[in-house]
Amino acid sequence: MIRTLDDLGVEGAALGVRVDINSPLDDGGPGEPRELADDARLRAHVDTVRELCDRGGRVAILAHQGRPGGDDFADLSAHAARLDELVEPPVGYCDGTFSADARARVENLDAGSAVLLENTRFYSEEYMSFEPERAAATYLVERLSPVLDAYVNDAFATSHRRQPSIVGFPETLPAYAGRVMERELEVLGNIGESPEPRVYVLGGAKVDDSIDVARSVLERGLADAVLTGGVVGNAFLLADGVSLGAASAAVVNERSHEAVKGAGELLDDFSHRVYLPRDVAVERDGERVELDLEELPAAEPALDVGARTVAAYAEVLEDAGTAILNGPAGVFEDPLFEVGTRELYTAATRAETSIVGGGDTAAAVRKLGLEGFDHVSTGGGAALRMLTGDSLPGVEALDQPERP
Ligand code: ADP
Ligand code: MG
Repeated sequence: MIRTLDDLGVEGAALGVRVDINSPLDDGGPGEPRELADDARLRAHVDTVRELCDRGGRVAILAHQGRPGGDDFADLSAHAARLDELVEPPVGYCDGTFSADARARVENLDAGSAVLLENTRFYSEEYMSFEPERAAATYLVERLSPVLDAYVNDAFATSHRRQPSIVGFPETLPAYAGRVMERELEVLGNIGESPEPRVYVLGGAKVDDSIDVARSVLERGLADAVLTGGVVGNAFLLADGVSLGAASAAVVNERSHEAVKGAGELLDDFSHRVYLPRDVAVERDGERVELDLEELPAAEPALDVGARTVAAYAEVLEDAGTAILNGPAGVFEDPLFEVGTRELYTAATRAETSIVGGGDTAAAVRKLGLEGFDHVSTGGGAALRMLTGDSLPGVEALDQPERP
């Protein structure tokens, strides 16, 4: 049984709250602190943090930023400052995660206030995968658990990982789903009960992942139709024998050497349920040019789907009970190639229920100012896993027996 904040006695309790506020950062000058380039992920958790403070909790927030060795690997001072602005109750910052200092900060927290502890990934164990029992024996969990009364996981977007801050604490503390987690599970955890027909719109550049999702949802009978776009759509066109041109083929192969084969096998098994683009857009002399399949191959890479594809897909989406979107239909970052994603996604909002999952996909929705979706997931990899019908280690860890 997964308990929520409705089941938690908050007043006066020290709560370890795992969030996912991993964000793009500005470059920052030499010696300058890095600033947040986008605070959408922080905003998502405001409700959870505010509620716990308002109910008199003593809130110790756990989070990560970037990965060791990566450009975005940074401390959480900017995140704390921004959270302090976004959440009414005070949010402090502690530059340790489970040091004596950090533990003292947690123990001395006033009811109704919060502290953001340092980037969990500053400690090497947090970047490893563990079974829950072993995760509970890491330094982070062993040192922090004694000063906490309960653990709240609101980091849906990290819950596909078996990291100590995700799967370890539920072994040592009573565990609860935060509000973000609760909502994600409500929608993505019950995809099999969402209105039919169910139409998956798969685009973007993670071709192998998308083909896995398509196969999984088709085999499980979750999907009635799969509409393909982006690099994914190009892989299916190649698998179907369309000669897109060397430039497009190179992009697909750069992403995966298995993609065309995987797409071909899926077409063999489910041809009538998988829809392929009918036209593509390329850049020619600085302009967008749409080409029908008969006009291919093109020297330029296919960077978007064209109007005929959008019209055909829109017809399917019109009658959909549920539209599930993952991966943009084109290179939406370029104004010349955003139109496919814009129009397809707009058509998807006309389905009875529409759900958006995926990191760049959610970014596309925000950038293009698209509205009207029933749910925009905070998760990328985690959302993909849920959409295939799989469970997440972090969610399984929250499933605790009822207490007397
Ligand atoms: P998400 O993060 O939502 O799961 P992906 O990372 O799989 O999505 O894909 C997003 C990226 O795919 C975007 O940066 C977009 O520019 C790129 N993309 C979409 N269509 C094409 C295309 N035809 N050619 C090259 N890149 C594309
Ligand atoms: Mg991505």
